[in-house]
This record gives sequence, C-alpha cells and structure tokens, in this order.
Amino acid sequence: MKNYSRRKFVKLLGGTGALLSASSLLTGCGKAASARIVIVGGGFGGSTCAKYLRRFDSSLDITLIEPSSRFITCPFSNMVISGMQTMDSISHDYAAQADRGVNVVHARVQEVDATAKKVTLDNGKALEYDRLVLSPGIDFKWDEVEGMQASDAEIIPHAWQGGSQTILLRKQLMAMSDGGVVIVAPPKNPFRCPPGPYERISLIAHYLKQHKPKSKILVLDAKDKFSKQTLFRQGWEKLYPGMIEWVAGSKGGSIEEIDVATGTLYTEFGDTHKGDVVNFIPPQKAGAIAQHAGLANNDGWCFVDQRTFESKVHKDVYVIGDASIAGAMPKSGFAANSQGKVCAAAIVSSLRGVAMPEPSYVNTCYSLVSPDYGISVAAVYRHSEDKGIYKTGGGVSPIDADATYRSQEARYARGWYDSVTMDTFG
Ligand SMILES: Cc1cc2nc3c(=O)[nH]c(=O)nc-3n(C[C@H](O)[C@H](O)[C@H](O)COP(=O)(O)OP(=O)(O)OC[C@H]3O[C@@H](n4cnc5c(N)ncnc54)[C@H](O)[C@@H]3O)c2cc1C
Repeated sequence: MKNYSRRKFVKLLGGTGALLSASSLLTGCGKAASARIVIVGGGFGGSTCAKYLRRFDSSLDITLIEPSSRFITCPFSNMVISGMQTMDSISHDYAAQADRGVNVVHARVQEVDATAKKVTLDNGKALEYDRLVLSPGIDFKWDEVEGMQASDAEIIPHAWQGGSQTILLRKQLMAMSDGGVVIVAPPKNPFRCPPGPYERISLIAHYLKQHKPKSKILVLDAKDKFSKQTLFRQGWEKLYPGMIEWVAGSKGGSIEEIDVATGTLYTEFGDTHKGDVVNFIPPQKAGAIAQHAGLANNDGWCFVDQRTFESKVHKDVYVIGDASIAGAMPKSGFAANSQGKVCAAAIVSSLRGVAMPEPSYVNTCYSLVSPDYGISVAAVYRHSEDKGIYKTGGGVSPIDADATYRSQEARYARGWYDSVTMDTFG
C-alpha cells in the first residue's frame, strides 16, 4: 500500500476541490485489506471517486461500471451545440483508470441487491461488493409531461445528457431557416446544472446572431427566477438585444402540454407557442438504477448522510453526484467531483475503522454568455449535523465588470474545464 504523508494527502484533495482536514486516516493506521469497491457510473462523481480511492489505498479492489467507452461531458456541450467546439473535445476515455489498476467494466447495472451485497449487470454477470458507490446522474420525470414520452426526445431533444442528443439539437439549429423561432423550456428545481439552460440560450443566441440574425429565442421557464439571472440578462441585453424573450413560470412560462408532431407548447395560461426548434428540458430525478434500488425518496432523489454520502436507506451503499441530496450544493460536475473525493475518504476511513477527516466541499459554475464573455458563481461548503452541507462563503461575478474582466472569466472557464476533466478522467 502506498503511504501518503498527511501533507501530501491534504494536497491531493485540496488542490482540486475537496479539502479534508487532519485525521487518523492520514496516520496510516490499518489498511483496507483488498476490500471490493464497486462504483456504478463513470461520469464526474464515479470516475473521481474511483481515482481517489486508488490514490488513498492501493490495496483496494476497485471496479468502475459504465456502459459507454467514452464519456461525453455536459459541461461545454453548449459550445458544441452552438458550433464553437467539436464532440471530440468534450469526450473522455477510461484509459487512465485502467492504467492505475481500476477494473473498468463496460456494462449497465440492472439490479442492486443490498442484502446480498451484489449487483447484476446487463451481460448477466454479478459482482459482489463490500462498499457500493452509485453516481448514475439523472433521469427524467416523463410521467409529469403531458403529450411527450422518452422516445419523443428523438424529435424534441432535451440535450441534457451528453451524446447523441447534443448532436441532434445542433443539427436542428443548423437546419432552421433565418427568422425561425427557437423555444427553450428550462425545468423546475431541482435539476442538473442550474445555470446550464441560460448558458445554452446565450450560446444559441451567439450562433443565431452570426448565421440567422432574424431569428428569435423564446424561453418558457417553469420557474420565476434562475441562477446568475441579473448577470445573464445584462449580457443578453448587451450582446443580443431584442433576440431573447424570457417568460417566467408565473407569467405564462409554465408548460402544460406538448404536441410533439407540430412542435407546439401549450402553457398553463392557455397560450400556444410553436417553435421551429424546441428544446424542452424535462423535470428530473436521480438515475433509474437509484430508483430501482429503492434509494430515492418520493421526489426522486436520494437521501444520504451528507458527511460521508452513505445512503440513508442501505448501509455500505453511497450515492454521490446529481442523484444525491447534498444540502446547499448544486447538481454540477464540479460538485460531483468534490463529492467523489469526500466519499472516497469516507469509504477508506470506514474500512480502516478510523474517524473520517472533516470534509469541506467546493463548487464553481462558469457560464459563457459568448465565447469572450464569461460569468461565474462560486461557493465553499462545510458540514454540520444539524445543517447538513451548508455554504460558508462564495460569490458571483461583479455586475459592473468591464469587457476585460468578462473575457478573463471566459478564459478561466476553459481552464476550469481542462483541470476538472483532467482531475476526473485523467
Ligand atoms: C448543458 C449542461 C451544461 C453543464 N455545464 C456544467 C458546467 O459548466 N459545470 C459543472 O460543474 N457542471 C455542469 N453540468 C452538470 C454536470 O454535467 C452534472 O452535474 C454531472 O455530470 C453530474 O455528475 P454525475 O456523476 O452525478 O453524473 P454523470 O456525470 O452524468 O455520470 C453518470 C454516469 O452513470 C452512468 N450510468 C447511469 N446508470 C447506470 C447504470 N445502471 N449502470 C452503469 N452506469 C450507469 C451513465 O452512463 C453516466 O456515464 C452541465 C450539465 C448540462 C446538462
């Protein structure tokens, strides 16, 4: 087993998003004696957790189960949709995980048996575990959408999971003629990436301004306010005057029914809107396997001990990333990355029978309003028994920043993407 000094252990965690303070974990007492750790989902949470488990204890037997051989990130997928980047630039493989001795299995987990401590895969194989980590991301509440079902996303793409949906929305925008109407319909809270729909609206506007300047974007929002709203709206007025109309949920933005064949949306107020391209982002819940394993509450999300991410339902099962209820943290890739490290430390501590280091968590969400105009929101978090994960500091970009500042934030956004994906998949 690799023995990390306390200083090095803290550095490993702190440099990239999650900081755990001193504890007996770092004194090297005990070791996790080849415990079997199975991780479901090779996205931001799962991949980070696998990597840091290996770093903390080289004796662990770690298996990462993920159906795809290449993970396509949602972060920066709005850049692909608007033609600024290629799919290749947001795709990552699992070679580094295999190199560090993580068993990467490309399959889908179909069943979790928390009593027998085993998972069954869609290839018929079963794997036993001592600790199980689920980071399955999100699924959609199609039963709450009148007139549309999962298969209709091939006609009206949500593009809220990276991959073919991203390409489909891009193609639809390219095929639309100048003067067309793009409807974007963001969901109610909570959902994956609170600023994501508004970055998408901004970058679609950037594309339209260049190629189809007579076109309009109508935003039918299920909510009355959204992340970084003042900053986004200021950017829209400055860069895309007259192009974007945003309708709040209580002012007629809330959608009641969708006619998929004609791309028509019917609102709660009885209004009818027809789009040439429609990007309806459905209401969300934890990934299907979390529901299937009985880990989710009535609202579709998973209760966990927010200090360790162990499920409140099943012992030795941990849920991280978007699927979990993580107090004040948003559902973001950076948050999932941060939680993956905390969870890895919690698992190693529990296997060694030592107290877990005191965690702190971090998140920054950069958004591009145009390629050269970035804004951000950042926060650090701590945990207490009564409050769960709570915010201890942070802030948003200044409202009165000049063009140089916005341009610098756009550069930081790209730097953030490179470092978080290197930390997760590299
Ligand atoms: C348009 C958009 C822009 C975004 N931009 C940002 C951003 O700028 N910054 C940011 O921090 N976040 C951003 N996000 C949010 C980010 O993508 C998610 O919060 C993050 O991916 C969550 O990580 P996760 O591990 O929970 O899920 P994911 O990263 O989605 O990983 C889940 C994985 O689990 C796998 N899986 C699911 N079920 C099973 C199963 N049964 N068996 C095996 N594997 C399974 C899936 O194949 C998937 O690979 C954005 C999201 C969107 C939609």
